[in-house]
Amino acid sequence: SQSLVAYYRTQRQKRVKPTFEPRPIELRVDEVLKGVTGLIGNTPLIRINSLSDALGVEILGKAEFLNPGGSVKDRVALRMIEDAEHQRLLRPNTGSRIFEGTVGSTGISIATIARAKGYETTIIMPDDVAAEKVQALHALGAHVERVRPASIVDKKQYVNLARDYALKFGEENAELPADSAPHPSHPHTLRSFSSSVVVTTTALSDAGTTDSKELEEYLSKPRGFFADQFENRSNFDAHFHGTGPEIWRQTNGRLDAFVSGAGTGGTIAGVGQYLKSMQKDVIVALCDPDGSGLYNKVQHGVMYDRKESEGTKRRHQVDTVVEGIGINRLTKNVELALPIISEAFRITDEEAVAMSRYLVKHDGLFLGSSSACNLIACIKLVKKMGWKEGQRVATILCDSGTRHYSKFWNDEYLKSASISTNPDLVEELLASP
Ligand code: PMP
Repeated sequence: SQSLVAYYRTQRQKRVKPTFEPRPIELRVDEVLKGVTGLIGNTPLIRINSLSDALGVEILGKAEFLNPGGSVKDRVALRMIEDAEHQRLLRPNTGSRIFEGTVGSTGISIATIARAKGYETTIIMPDDVAAEKVQALHALGAHVERVRPASIVDKKQYVNLARDYALKFGEENAELPADSAPHPSHPHTLRSFSSSVVVTTTALSDAGTTDSKELEEYLSKPRGFFADQFENRSNFDAHFHGTGPEIWRQTNGRLDAFVSGAGTGGTIAGVGQYLKSMQKDVIVALCDPDGSGLYNKVQHGVMYDRKESEGTKRRHQVDTVVEGIGINRLTKNVELALPIISEAFRITDEEAVAMSRYLVKHDGLFLGSSSACNLIACIKLVKKMGWKEGQRVATILCDSGTRHYSKFWNDEYLKSASISTNPDLVEELLASP
């Protein structure tokens, strides 16, 4: 068994970086793509006409809702799974199961790709997210568990449960070692990012053989893989090697700012870091919904305002009708974003709701809540910078309104949640000095 440990150590050291290249950046409408994963990424960038005309500044939205799984998260799910395959943590059609804790979009993306590649999926999610996300997951054949929203320090919090289940599955199916020996870490391996994956990786070295046939048999056993979007470097890489370069190419490198919310931080970190590496003057701006702590972290260096949050559930949960963005803890992907974020805007539920209705009315764009937040922040940034003509701001249109019928796009629900609606709010914002 010792020699096998050495074997994997050498293998991993040789593999400095994931060796496969990101997909080519091009709109491939004139060729046959290989299955559903061929549809992921390479999304168009569109000018939001109403806002651009009103501001004199071009507001550009990356149409991520066109991904086959319906959101920007397809990119991340694909990269996490392919990186794991590359590291031999997953092998198709072995009965292996991918576990993830998610408010929905990532789960749907993972389930979609898992179906295409031959994996099973278990998704743990809070029980207060829009019901249509659960329906989509069921339709995709995922096993879904809904749990009460809880603090990240709680063992029953959805991310913690997903990790736990993955490890248990691994123990039952792949004879995991009880403890995970430390391993020389490398910034580009999953190990340095995700402790639970470390255990699974170490399990390979415990196969106890160097015989290639036995090894093959070992690798063909079912495995549990915790995707771990919050801490997984593949999340950042999907955007650093995909979304970021695409935006750069689509704008011919003429871009003044990039605006994004953060759910895991992967988008703002990956796209932001790439754009900054190409042109250091690009402004990277964060939009943060009600109840999220990131705004305070950027503005004041602390995650949350003690006075505001003590004794309330805001300490660990993001209390907003906006789904997918906002976070109250520092994740690895958020940490990669913090050094490059120079502007931050707080967005209220009312503003997000008003923007979503405004976009349907004026642009025929039916979008989800995080896209609406992003576009409110674009206006706030333009106003703050005093930009009047010719500048360009890009943001992400993360998902479509169809994922949000039961809450964000449901006026009855908004009323019951005491979220006021003001149809003139966007016009007022646009007209403000
Ligand atoms: N919008 C939606 C709809 C999402 O599901 C997510 C991911 N949670 C985001 C935006 C934020 O992306 P990221 O995780 O990269 O910060």
